[in-house]
Amino acid sequence: MTPKQKRTAHVALEKRDGKGCFYCGAAGATLGLDHAVPRSAGGTNARANLRRSCTACNRAKGSMSEEEFLKLVTPYPGTPADRRRALRVASAG
Ligand SMILES: [Zn+2]
Repeated sequence: MTPKQKRTAHVALEKRDGKGCFYCGAAGATLGLDHAVPRSAGGTNARANLRRSCTACNRAKGSMSEEEFLKLVTPYPGTPADRRRALRVASAG
């Protein structure tokens, strides 16, 4: 995706999904674009497959399916730091 396409996607996804990380809700974090279905599994850059995600979630999710990953992070009753710790544990297997 070009930088312009990414910016456009961020605006549209924020409208659709709200502010903050799609997975953990972290607000104020730097958000990147995550693929619900990983590209390694045939996922595309279509909006329907894109989620705004914080770095911690993006890394932790890896090639997990979205469904699998959401079970780990939602709802997570803690501070962003707690969440990052939990995600590190989860992604370590
Ligand atoms: Zn997150």
